[in-house]
Order: sequence, then C-alpha cells, then structure tokens
Amino acid sequence: MSNSIRIGRWAAELYQRAIYIEQRPKRDCPDCGGHGAIEVGGEYVLDHTWEPDSEPCPCWDPYRTIRIPLWRRAKIVEPF
Ligand SMILES: [Zn+2]
Repeated sequence: MSNSIRIGRWAAELYQRAIYIEQRPKRDCPDCGGHGAIEVGGEYVLDHTWEPDSEPCPCWDPYRTIRIPLWRRAKIVEPF
C-alpha cells in the first residue's frame, strides 16, 4: 500500500510521524522534459561508453521539502 498522493506538481508522503510534501519537476518543462535533471557534459568511461553528468533542472529544487510533524492530539480536560 502506498502512502503517497500526487496533486499536480506536488507529491505528499505520509509517514508515522510526519507528512512530507515536495514539489516535482514541471511536467512540460522545455529544459528537462519533466525529468528534473539536465545534462551538463559528461565523460567517456573505461569501456568507452558516454557517462553523462547531470544536475537538477532550475524548474524545481529537489532539496526543498515541507515537513509537517504529526503530534499527539492534546487531551481535552473538562473541569467538571
Ligand atoms: Zn525542468
């Protein structure tokens, strides 16, 4: 069972102690095409295959997350 939902560019994941919400890459981004990474050069590795280097696309910030802690509901104490 998955404890995550997606609403447009936003993804929310539910854990036992917190909800994490993060923004996903723009689906129609002209730079990354929705993958969230752009190729910035690369190098040929030992077996002569091209290993591209990539970095996050400017359309999103993969390190920005909203964390909503889940606390126990405060006990309501009635005075009578
Ligand atoms: Zn992008």
